[in-house]
Amino acid sequence: MSNATQLIHSIPVDPQTGSISVPIYQTSTFVQEAPGVNKGYDYARSNNPTRASLEQLVATLEQGETGIAFGSGLAAIDAVIKLLKAGDEILAVDDIYGGAFRLFTHIYEKFGISVRYVDTTNVENVFEAITPQTKLIWLETPTNPTLKISDIAAIAAVAKASGCWLCVDNTFASPALQQPLTLGADIVVHSATKYLGGHSDLIAGVVVTREKELGDKIKFIQNASGAILAPFDSWLVIRGIETLHLRVRQHSANALEVARYLEQHPQVDKVFYPGLPSHPNHEIAKKQSKAFGGVVSFTLKQNTEDAAVALVTATQLFKLAESLGGVKSLLCHPANMTHKSIPAEKRRAAGVADSLIRLSVGLEEVEDLINDLDQALTKLNNKTTQPVKQKELVV
Ligand SMILES: *Cc1c(COP(=O)(O)O)cnc(C)c1O
Repeated sequence: MSNATQLIHSIPVDPQTGSISVPIYQTSTFVQEAPGVNKGYDYARSNNPTRASLEQLVATLEQGETGIAFGSGLAAIDAVIKLLKAGDEILAVDDIYGGAFRLFTHIYEKFGISVRYVDTTNVENVFEAITPQTKLIWLETPTNPTLKISDIAAIAAVAKASGCWLCVDNTFASPALQQPLTLGADIVVHSATKYLGGHSDLIAGVVVTREKELGDKIKFIQNASGAILAPFDSWLVIRGIETLHLRVRQHSANALEVARYLEQHPQVDKVFYPGLPSHPNHEIAKKQSKAFGGVVSFTLKQNTEDAAVALVTATQLFKLAESLGGVKSLLCHPANMTHKSIPAEKRRAAGVADSLIRLSVGLEEVEDLINDLDQALTKLNNKTTQPVKQKELVV
């Protein structure tokens, strides 16, 4: 049976009523027959049947053992870091999600957990950077926003040999394209806000572990720290996942065409998309993922923030907004938006140029999306870039 069929039919039919949609258990507590005698649920922070359905579903999708759902992607990341203790060290991908960088640096460093950043596209770098204190390797592949690809299986082997955990933030690929646990990773995290939810209408996060023992530890942290996902949002993510395979297939097809269009445009300098043969890690991307996802980044020949701002305010279908993975196309200027919390030097060193623009290619007809980018690039061509007035930034 194909993955999509299996997925659709792994969403349970309610045994009590036959409801084909998972019921939303909007409750805080569960009545017990005698102290400790209950139907598997006692208090809704600890467990909730709607959330449990989502957790089981994402675990199945990732071919993992345990799923644990949180109120945001960052809360999911936070729970994984709470596996560590003072003195432990994280080795992280250099082109990391800005919010993860902020969490590691401004929250966890003061608790004595240190982080080092390496270019994980070369497995040698990872191998050489590991010390006896390294407890966790943190990967994103593809990365945000330069779409770097790291070899999950090779890094999983290094992690295993060194006795540390490998956690992959699988938000960009989604399990429809890439399943890190099957390649040897120990933990997967998701911002379910993006492709799992898929409709830009919620904030959610999920952790999935390959083994039950680690899953139990994260479940303990979920209950002890309390950053759970609410029943209604759990239901929305389940509903989003019903069309995950269909959506991601179309996002990927649209993104590939947009990337090809941008690559031949005279105003465009570099295009970052793992599906292009020009991408330095195209072969690894082909090996470990079924397609290349819906995010495309590019830089302009005119490599200035002003040129980028002029472009991101000139599109009509691509709306200027943070986030990605929804039905409607979005674009953003990471230097000024998602990556503002990363110091400029560090940001540029990680390949996030001043003019870099990130697209989240949606599910519109691809011709319309290309026409929209085309008219915006033409406008840019016709105007010697002038600083854009602040109010024009607001769309
Ligand atoms: C958005 C995002 C996050 C954070 O998720 P939230 O749901 O916004 O908390 C983490 N990692 C990646 C790769 C993301 O894109």
